[in-house]
Amino acid sequence: MSASYFENRDCPYYPCHDGEHINCLFCFCPLYGQEDCGGSYTMISGKDGKPVKDCSQCLIPHQEEGYAYILSKLQDE
Ligand code: SF4
Repeated sequence: MSASYFENRDCPYYPCHDGEHINCLFCFCPLYGQEDCGGSYTMISGKDGKPVKDCSQCLIPHQEEGYAYILSKLQDE
């Protein structure tokens, strides 16, 4: 465990993905707006019919090493 890892097991949505340990530091992925985020997302139709990302199969923001990855991608913007 480190400053780049935090589990909130008291959250009513925990665990929000399959997996034994979920890093809650990035509850909402800061890379959501990036088409080339590097995650395994699919595009689905949102409530208003517009395409939105479905990130339910991606664990990048919820893994401890995802912290460094996300920071490096944000610095590349
Ligand atoms: S959760 Fe994964 S797929 Fe979704 S924006 Fe973040 S990195 Fe990309």
